Amino acid sequence: MTLPLRPELKGLSPYGAPQEEVAARLNVNENPYSPPPAVVDAIANAVHKAARGLNRYPDRDFMALRVDLARYLGAESHVDFLEPHNIWAANGSNEVMLHLHQAFGGPGRITLTFSPTYSMYPEYARDTLTEYLSLPRREDFHLDIDLSVAAIREHKPTLVIVASPNNPSGTALALDDVKALAAACAEVPGGSVLVVDEAYAEFRRRGVPSAASLLPETPHLVVTRTMSKAFGLAGGRLGYLAASREVVNALTVVRLPYHLSSITQAAARAALAHHLELQAQVDEIRAERDDTVDWLRAQGYTVPETDANFAYFGPLKDRDAVFRGLLDRGVLIRVVGPEGWMRVTIGTAREMAMFRNALLEVTS
Ligand code: PMP
Repeated sequence: MTLPLRPELKGLSPYGAPQEEVAARLNVNENPYSPPPAVVDAIANAVHKAARGLNRYPDRDFMALRVDLARYLGAESHVDFLEPHNIWAANGSNEVMLHLHQAFGGPGRITLTFSPTYSMYPEYARDTLTEYLSLPRREDFHLDIDLSVAAIREHKPTLVIVASPNNPSGTALALDDVKALAAACAEVPGGSVLVVDEAYAEFRRRGVPSAASLLPETPHLVVTRTMSKAFGLAGGRLGYLAASREVVNALTVVRLPYHLSSITQAAARAALAHHLELQAQVDEIRAERDDTVDWLRAQGYTVPETDANFAYFGPLKDRDAVFRGLLDRGVLIRVVGPEGWMRVTIGTAREMAMFRNALLEVTS
């Protein structure tokens, strides 16, 4: 059969890291702790209640969830100006990003990012017929701000996306750098939206501010977040953003009606009401991360400063062989980014001990 597949999709395989049942799954930056029993009950009760109304479409504008998200994000990032109309949400921040591309990308437009970075960014661009341009980061994986500002001036992208902390490097952006990028975006004729992807923000070290604090004076700034990481709710699929009312209004135009099911809304609200219990292990994960970084450095690896729940390390002579050796020992991590580098998600103390032992064996 001949399928009229879009030519640019020919031969492509779907995005996705392996989902293997191994002892230590440290490859997709999940939270290793399942929700505590009391929170499982709260979510189940909320879903039970929502199920009674499943004959009706969900609240299309998910207002109650937006109120809760505004309150949570305001408290988490120490800002007091967020209103429900500043919040948007979808099925994972993946879908939020797709909405941003549907509204602000498109044919003849450019999305600019800085590599290595999250490997889904080119896919949102491809799927919305937006040109994708990714410029290299510095050798230490931080942004070269002068080069980045110059690139915005030269290419006039309608979307600039920077992950902070960045995946896979873990490196976070200083607020002054966000300001410099935002200033360059403000000068782009016709407008340019700066998206700071803060999927891992809750893991940042103390004193590292969220870009959300810049929202009032920066109407073309968008800060995206997710419940997949610190909340340990990757299976719930809830991502969100904070932005000006104008940006949020634009996204309402491109979303499919009722994109957030009643079940998703109910589960997310119950989880937000219990965010402290759900995030009870964030400190533990941070401490485990810092220990992992120290240990990797002591083994002679280079590890960029990380504000996320993973560590990026290298150089490795044959990273594919290391990947296979670790997998043979029940430890699944990620081959990603430039040759010689690998990323390990921070798991439980037991999982990290397995990782350390396996890495020593494989590289000895
Ligand atoms: N942004 C970054 C930088 C990520 O690493 C991820 C998940 N790996 C996401 C966004 C997407 O997360 P989700 O769709 O689960 O919210």
